[in-house]
Amino acid sequence: MMRIDILTVVPGLLEGPFAHSILKRAIQNKLVEVVVHNIRDWSVNKHKTVDDYAYGGGAGMVMMIEPIVACIEELQSQRSYDEIIYMSPDGELFDQSLANQLSMKGNLMILCGHYKGVDERIRRHFITREISIGNYVLSGGELAAAVVSDAIIRLLPGVLNDETSALSDSFQDNLLAPPVYTRPADFRGHKVPDILLSGHEAEIDKWRHEQSLARTKERRPDLLKND
Ligand code: SAH
Repeated sequence: MMRIDILTVVPGLLEGPFAHSILKRAIQNKLVEVVVHNIRDWSVNKHKTVDDYAYGGGAGMVMMIEPIVACIEELQSQRSYDEIIYMSPDGELFDQSLANQLSMKGNLMILCGHYKGVDERIRRHFITREISIGNYVLSGGELAAAVVSDAIIRLLPGVLNDETSALSDSFQDNLLAPPVYTRPADFRGHKVPDILLSGHEAEIDKWRHEQSLARTKERRPDLLKND
């Protein structure tokens, strides 16, 4: 079973994402284990400090190295980790192909930064991979860790009801997903395309593929360029 350990100073931010719907069911069905750790529990002093002023001055606090490394090393003494990931706006841009890659791993650790980020020495000496979820800055790595975990977990075998469902999602074959419809067939004169009501499976597949191609050409031509 895949295991994801998330290290944070704000564990409350990670309570929601795993407590509902598909991720909740994946955890209940023992397809993945997600464990959230409060870095404060590894703080070395009685005030439970996890951050301090930046050397050299300037605004913003920096997450201290000792509590984080104590937490990482305690977890490493219990099992080996395939990746120790730091969520960071200057990391490798997260995409479907990286999600696919990470979904094949066994144990993942994800470190969430807060304030100005973590002491650089953690990144240099303990982190194996740095991931950004986009070119914007969040106040903490927690939501980003939830995004990455969600994208990974829904790919694990058995998580989605229909096994093929993840395969037909956008990006999976460098194509955007085709449009989808459900009842009613006519809403205020806005009709569902006839082909979808025809029952001709092969024709429907063909139509969906054409729609995917057209949509990708129109919205994301960059995806069609061979890489
Ligand atoms: N001073 C840092 C930003 C700190 S933001 C810089 O300019 O690079 C606080 C934390 O939020 C970061 O340590 C990181 O863990 C998280 N974070 C912010 N934006 C993110 C993004 N786009 N992707 C992933 N994590 C992000």
